[in-house]
Amino acid sequence: MTASAARPPPHLLDRLKALLGPEGWSEDAVELDAHLADWRGRERGFTPLLVKPASTGEVAALVQVCAEAGVAITPQGGNTGLVGGGLPRGEVLLSLKRLRRIRAVDPLDDSLIAEAGTPLVEVQQAAAAAGRLFPLSLGSEGVATIGGLCSTNAGGVAVLRYGMMRDLVLGLEVVLPDGRIWNGLRTLRKDNTGYDLKQLFLGAEGTLGVITAAALKLFARPAATETAVAALADLHASCELLALAKEMSGGGVTAFELLPQRAFDLVLKHIADTRTPFVQPPPWSVLIEVSFGRPEGGRAVLEAILAAALERGLISDAAIAHSLAQAGAFWKVRETLPLALRLEGLALAHDVSAPVSRMPDLIVMAQAEVARLAPGAPVVAFGHVGDGNAHINVGPAPGRELDPALAHAITDAIHAGATALGGSISAEHGIGAQKLAELPLRRSAVEIDLMRKLKHALDPKGVMNPNRIVSFHA
Ligand SMILES: Cc1cc2nc3c(=O)[nH]c(=O)nc-3n(C[C@H](O)[C@H](O)[C@H](O)COP(=O)(O)OP(=O)(O)OC[C@H]3O[C@@H](n4cnc5c(N)ncnc54)[C@H](O)[C@@H]3O)c2cc1C
Repeated sequence: MTASAARPPPHLLDRLKALLGPEGWSEDAVELDAHLADWRGRERGFTPLLVKPASTGEVAALVQVCAEAGVAITPQGGNTGLVGGGLPRGEVLLSLKRLRRIRAVDPLDDSLIAEAGTPLVEVQQAAAAAGRLFPLSLGSEGVATIGGLCSTNAGGVAVLRYGMMRDLVLGLEVVLPDGRIWNGLRTLRKDNTGYDLKQLFLGAEGTLGVITAAALKLFARPAATETAVAALADLHASCELLALAKEMSGGGVTAFELLPQRAFDLVLKHIADTRTPFVQPPPWSVLIEVSFGRPEGGRAVLEAILAAALERGLISDAAIAHSLAQAGAFWKVRETLPLALRLEGLALAHDVSAPVSRMPDLIVMAQAEVARLAPGAPVVAFGHVGDGNAHINVGPAPGRELDPALAHAITDAIHAGATALGGSISAEHGIGAQKLAELPLRRSAVEIDLMRKLKHALDPKGVMNPNRIVSFHA
């Protein structure tokens, strides 16, 4: 029998409450509210009980009770996920927020062990206090947790240099769907002892087990970082500019983020204390960050890159940040853009990828498809083009609505275009519940079959976050 999200019997809920003690659960509507609201405000979850274990042992005990009774569980970290993976739909909601300790920081091994509920910002701070860098960085870093970031294989703005979460994890501690604990919290750089089990849980969106702690890679802090915003001659110039910047900086580019004109307009409109480096924002610009191992000389390298780009006609204007405050102001435009888009109502979001060289084609295709299907509808394409990833947000045309059928047609066209370019319908946010039905259309039958076999092998009762990524039944 597989697990169900039907309301669990009262005696089961009582058992969980007794197991966790008064601090370890809640039915309080006010407390539940933040856990059941979707960040984009489009959906609300529901749950019979919020459980808040404080240790790996408590997670294991409650998972075992649920597994034996066939009761489904949805793990949740900061609830900043954007594909509905962590919103319960009747499952017991397992918040990891009380597992918030940094267990170890080792600057000689360049490693840090953090519990799953630790917000990313606290890990960054602990690494900095030890004179090291944990490079993952994204707009939700104050709230998103290590467990959620591992489970979504999060990307962010430093992927170009340091990779995604998958590249930053050395080991994991996981509670399996039957309640056993797998202690894989090794900090080894080299370990070829069979299958790399941690990779199964990274990006699994809570469908294969509950991550309770992670051993993370630390890095030397760059001695200097320089930031600029450059106005592109046109969208296609972005690829050549990126290649030039990588070459001339000796691989020092840490971020390369696309910003359309409308990005500046929207953050100026919706976000307090934002400024634009341009008198008149250009149709397309990029935010470039370059990091260096030595304290001197970085500014000259960035100036040389921008001068060469001007000479080759790749850019028409550029502004280099002359202080940390100025760099912060440049970044603020990029980091607050998702919020500005939400406030503006450009809520139909796409998180697509393609080979870096095909990104301009992907964006042009998306604009053309939206113009064809919904003339006048605004499109804002932005983000991590240096990694071959763009977020493409669409809103209703003035005076119109994006009804579900039209929204579906737009998404289908953009996703089909990304797939045709050799890209993906989810670059970094995951599949969750939102793209569950679509995944089998975009991936081969062999891939879907392998995913289902993995799910059945690790979670034969279907207890862990059902109906995310793959449906349990063929
Ligand atoms: C403003 C904003 C900016 C963002 N920018 C980026 C970005 O640049 N790059 C990017 O990749 N994402 C981005 N995101 C998306 C989001 O922050 C990430 O997906 C993040 O990794 C989610 O972490 P969380 O702790 O909030 O997880 P949640 O939202 O709570 O959960 C996400 C998924 O992981 C599962 N999960 C959570 N914790 C665990 C656990 N301990 N064990 C097993 N499963 C678990 C959940 O069931 C769910 O399926 C952004 C979101 C916002 C709101």
